[in-house]
This record gives sequence, C-alpha cells and structure tokens, in this order.
Amino acid sequence: MDTDVEHAVELLSRAGRFLVFTGAGISTASGIPDFRGPEGLWTRLDPDDYTYERHMTDPAFRARTWERHLASPFLGAEPNPGHEAVTRLWDAGLTQGCVTQNVDGLHRRAGLDAEALVELHGDASRIACTACDRVEELEPVRRRWEAGETDPRCLACGGILKPAVVFFGEELPRAALMRASAMAERATGVLVVGSTLSVYPAADIAVSIALRGLPMIIVNRGPTDHDRLAAVLIDGDAAVVLPRLADALVDAAGPRAR
Ligand SMILES: [Zn+2]
Repeated sequence: MDTDVEHAVELLSRAGRFLVFTGAGISTASGIPDFRGPEGLWTRLDPDDYTYERHMTDPAFRARTWERHLASPFLGAEPNPGHEAVTRLWDAGLTQGCVTQNVDGLHRRAGLDAEALVELHGDASRIACTACDRVEELEPVRRRWEAGETDPRCLACGGILKPAVVFFGEELPRAALMRASAMAERATGVLVVGSTLSVYPAADIAVSIALRGLPMIIVNRGPTDHDRLAAVLIDGDAAVVLPRLADALVDAAGPRAR
C-alpha cells in the first residue's frame, strides 16, 4: 500500500465516523463528462436550459426542457467502483454518510441507503412536482412524454413537473443542507472525493470539518481550492483509489466494522 493511502487510513480510522463528500470526479469513470460552467453548481447542465423562472412560466420552454433532459446521456450511466466503495464504507459502519454535489443519482444506484445520502443539488434521474413536492422516478414520466404529453403534469395535484435538480435561480433545498450540516457536525474527519471544493455553499460542508481541526483527506485529479487544509492529498482517479482505500479502512476497523 502506498504511504499516502496508509496515512489516510491511519487518520480516518480514529474512533467515530467520518463524512464522505463527493463531486464530479467520482463519476467521470462512469462516462459522465466533468465540464464546468461559470456557475459551479452547473458542472453538468447548462444554466440556460435549466432556469427556474422560465420553466415555471413558459410551456414552450418546458417542452424543450423535457426534450433535452430526457435525452441526457448521463441518465443511462452506471455506478463505478468508486460509488461502490462509498456504499461499502457506510455498510461497514465507518461513515456518517455521504454528501454529494452530483445530480447523477449514481450513489443511490450503487445501493447507498437513503438515510446515508444527501444530494445537495438534487437527482436528475428523478422528477419532482413544483406544487406538492412529490418525487417520482423518471421512467413513467418519460413514457408519458413519449406518448405525446409535451408538458406532463403531476398525477397527484396537476402541478408543474421538473427534473428533481436544483435549477438556476433556485436555492439549495433547506432540508438537504440541514441534513448535510448535521452529518458534518457529527463527523470525526472528512474524505473528499472528486471535488475541487470550489462550489459554495456545498464546499463549506467539507471545509467546516477541516476547520474544526479534524483530518481532511482529498482524493482528486489535480489541485483543489483547499489543498493546504488537507492532511493527505491523493492525486488520482476515484474509481481506482477509493476501492483500495475502502478495503484498507474496513480491514483496519476489524471488529468495529459491522
Ligand atoms: Zn403535485
């Protein structure tokens, strides 16, 4: 095992549970491009295509939103060994859970429990009602759209539907932020994976843990905005590094792992 992985294991193996914080880099091995717009949140989607105000007021804009969204290449992406490692760490009882900036839904699809997952920017593979907040899977809506509904409405209340991601002009959901903060407060360290920690307020979740003097381990390709706060920096692909790190952490935990 390389020394930086060993050092990471030593720091994260302290009593208590650490937080996993993930960004776009964990999903690149799943074939999802990591392109960045001027708004950091929009690392995957073009803000001009996902403007809340226009979606709510313009049926023609909504029709285009659906056409584009339902054709998004990343809706068919599969989880990779990096996502699976995050699930394994939770199943072993070693983490407080995972806070992600990603909207690809791949942590959920890799079997991570809902109670262990906070998707700060939503999940593009689900559909939400803007009136009653009901969330449903994308496929039934896709079938209705393919059958000719250019402006599918909520089957429960008739409200306007939208992809369950935070649109440009929308605030991050308060409930998600509060759950993420609670996980961070209980954490004894943080493992940052595939994020440059440059998107706020999401990055605050990870940085707040490091600022409490607790170890921050960063696994990322290239530099991040907070490398100097990191106890260990591992420059590499999450899909390669994370499974090794997870194996070593579960081994080190021994009987503590469930
Ligand atoms: Zn509704």
